[in-house]
Amino acid sequence: MQVQLLEATEDPERLICQAARNDYMREFVGETPFDEVMDSIDGDTLEDKQETLIHRLLDHGHFGPFEHPQATVAVEGISRSCMAQITRHRHVSFDVQSMRYVAFDDVDPAEVPEGEMVVVPPSATDPDWIGRNQETGPVDEQTAREREELFRNTIESAFESYQELLELGMAPEDARYVLPIGSKVNMVMSMNVRMLLHVADMRAAADAQWEIRDMTERILDRAAEWCPITFEYYEAEMKNRKNRLAP
Ligand SMILES: Cc1cc2nc3c(=O)[nH]c(=O)nc-3n(C[C@H](O)[C@H](O)[C@H](O)COP(=O)(O)OP(=O)(O)OC[C@H]3O[C@@H](n4cnc5c(N)ncnc54)[C@H](O)[C@@H]3O)c2cc1C
Repeated sequence: MQVQLLEATEDPERLICQAARNDYMREFVGETPFDEVMDSIDGDTLEDKQETLIHRLLDHGHFGPFEHPQATVAVEGISRSCMAQITRHRHVSFDVQSMRYVAFDDVDPAEVPEGEMVVVPPSATDPDWIGRNQETGPVDEQTAREREELFRNTIESAFESYQELLELGMAPEDARYVLPIGSKVNMVMSMNVRMLLHVADMRAAADAQWEIRDMTERILDRAAEWCPITFEYYEAEMKNRKNRLAP
């Protein structure tokens, strides 16, 4: 899996502060220099003042200003299962690679179980992996071998059938029905900072599945570079709070 930031609002935290200060200023924020906009906020430097204000907004649940800055990320190689989970979030905009127009007629089915076309869950190869809902815990080596073999054979056979169906003239959009839910897909998604905080609350949580959690953590890493005051505070102070669904 890869996650890259494609585009993002320039200076998002200045925008958050301008939007928030607009609510409490007599003057028009559009015509007031930023240092004057932030004049009444505690802090020695403009950056300190932004930190004070952003922390206060997050503590008080004043999330509206976080809806203004927006980021677009490109995600490479998540499963269709993970895609189905993340696309449940209605305030995120998505573009998803089409299996109608992109045919996988030239891949070698024997290579597929190595992870090129399909996401291989850790539980397929790691005897010690304990998933979120797994009741059995670690398994012995024989069981682990059987599990891995069955997983790999099933994937390989599905891709062989898919290619045979294409050769028999079936359209890629119909032949894809035999492909596994672990098939990889690329996606572009856009959301504002408030929505990203909400997605993080739900999808970087311990009860989320490992794949969407991994993806969300990677998005959060990019977000921390782009919008550092907000996401460093989220990581340090908000991530483990009791009511994680407020944003
Ligand atoms: C661990 C986990 C397990 C899950 N298991 C299942 C499952 O088994 N089956 C299943 O179907 N889903 C499942 N989900 C998905 C979950 O139920 C939500 O549909 C999904 O996470 C979208 O989040 P959201 O409801 O916060 O909505 P979002 O679309 O992210 O919207 C953000 C917020 O906007 C508000 N909002 C948006 N639309 C409406 C609306 N129409 N009415 C009122 N308020 C609205 C809500 O406050 C909402 O929290 C699971 C999610 C997680 C994290």
